[in-house]
Amino acid sequence: DLEARFSRTPLGFFPSPVHPLKRLSKALGINLWAKRDDVSSGLAFGGNKVRKLEWLAADAIAQGCDTLVSIGNIQSNHTRQVAAVAAALGMKCRLVQEEWTKWDDPAYEQVGNILLSRLMGATTVLEGEGYSTELKETWQRALEEVRREGGKPYAIPAGASDHRLGGLGYANFADEVVRQEAEHELFFDTVITATCTGSTQGGMVAGFRGQDRPRRLIGIDTACNEAMTRAAVTKIARQTADLIGLSAEIRDEDVIIDPRFAGPDYGLPDEATISAIRMGAEMEAMLTDPVYEGKSLAGLIAMARSGEIAPGSNVLYVHLGGAPALDAYHRAFE
Ligand code: PLP
Repeated sequence: DLEARFSRTPLGFFPSPVHPLKRLSKALGINLWAKRDDVSSGLAFGGNKVRKLEWLAADAIAQGCDTLVSIGNIQSNHTRQVAAVAAALGMKCRLVQEEWTKWDDPAYEQVGNILLSRLMGATTVLEGEGYSTELKETWQRALEEVRREGGKPYAIPAGASDHRLGGLGYANFADEVVRQEAEHELFFDTVITATCTGSTQGGMVAGFRGQDRPRRLIGIDTACNEAMTRAAVTKIARQTADLIGLSAEIRDEDVIIDPRFAGPDYGLPDEATISAIRMGAEMEAMLTDPVYEGKSLAGLIAMARSGEIAPGSNVLYVHLGGAPALDAYHRAFE
């Protein structure tokens, strides 16, 4: 039990719901369920970062920090969730919003996630460009500015990933899945998740590795950089395994990254992404976005259709949030 060893600040409604996707199941010939981390918090539409930030927020409070500082794309779901956590805990928030993708629409800097972050009182600094897991100078500068103004910053890297506690949230998620499987008397042989900065999948890899029954966890790359994503996920999985004292070692083959559904680049959908988003919306009213979940849904659909996911399999689609970015991408659906 991780809670006995690490402090957690409750920020969500956990366990997040699991439910069958009946119409999609029928269309794809598999037994498809969704685990809804997109509806697992009352904080500004939630998403996968809330689960991670529960552990980082407890650390920030223990250290007496008063300002959360983080970084992401202009339409980052992560920075919006950091803003939400700061607001709910009565902290200040400074966000570096970089241009990780070229999206030709003036609304991109005004609606969706960034609007919500501003509404929640965060300072949004639009500077820097390009997604990478390297340490950014823009972020260092934001931390420096908070210190100069007399604040005590707590540094949260992109996606809350490259952080000592980054993988804890999704290691815990793995245990939650097992309890829900027992409740519903089934076993998900395949789990599909979007992956980018790495601590969602990395945490799951560590969490599932600690369980008796092996299963296939497939990360659909959304960074459009398979090597970078694999390195990030593997590093976080191993670091998290150490942190939680796992006896089994994380092997290279535990980290499955599928690069085929990433579209032309980070943040840019292709036709498969858009048609997956439409299919999820039309058949299940399950809203996914062009940056992350539309891509993982596209991967799931393609693998079910090709037989890579065998007919009749019990499949868990992990929905990590992201729909608040949809308005910013309205041109993708014209
Ligand atoms: N899905 C959504 C909606 C996200 O906001 C993110 C964040 O990057 C991801 C998936 C990928 O998660 P991670 O960055 O932990 O790999």
